[in-house]
Amino acid sequence: MKENPKNYLTQETDSKPTQKPSDTREIIVLRWGHRPQRDVRLTTHVALTARALCASGFILSDVEDPGIEETVRKMTNSWGGTFHFEMGTPWKKAVHDWKANGGVVVHLTAYGENIQTSDVLNRIKSLDKNLLVIVGSQKVPSSFYSSEVSDFNVSIGNQPHSECAALAVFLDRFFTGEELARNFDEAKMRIVPRARGKQIKK
Ligand code: SAM
Repeated sequence: MKENPKNYLTQETDSKPTQKPSDTREIIVLRWGHRPQRDVRLTTHVALTARALCASGFILSDVEDPGIEETVRKMTNSWGGTFHFEMGTPWKKAVHDWKANGGVVVHLTAYGENIQTSDVLNRIKSLDKNLLVIVGSQKVPSSFYSSEVSDFNVSIGNQPHSECAALAVFLDRFFTGEELARNFDEAKMRIVPRARGKQIKK
């Protein structure tokens, strides 16, 4: 039996597309410990997750990897929005400059305060300051846990898993899901959500 074409459309919910989440704080994600030989795909995914879930930029600290920058720029060019990308900045300088400008540093780590069972997210939100969110790759230096570096050590559950997953859950909880309804400015392409098939508006 042929399906009614209308069945391909998704059901609209109360959550309509918006320009930006209501929390307009700046969130920059710092990726520490990238190994160009083996982390290209995962680091790219961390950057794209940061962009898609409404962080305002990404710092690939201490190393340069121009291929990742190019991928992120191409994605932003096609899919819209503005997204800051920088690489090679020493992590100590990035943290120092962030704090000097009044920002707060959140380190995502399996060993931190559990985002579900503690009030750490409320404490972060109540400060009303821009956030630098640090994720590792290989084991991070122990100084990352200290108050000189991290204002908050936050865990997304207390099991070790992935920087990409940890970042996604953190951003989603921070923006309470609003980031998933965002329409990006100046997009050359937009996905029209459908129950089946693919539709792209150009
Ligand atoms: N053996 C590494 C260690 O001891 O740090 C595990 C690193 S893990 C593969 C890479 C990164 O994922 C960590 O540096 C952290 O940023 C993030 N991560 C992993 N599990 C996490 C969790 N449960 N909560 C928050 N972040 C997590």
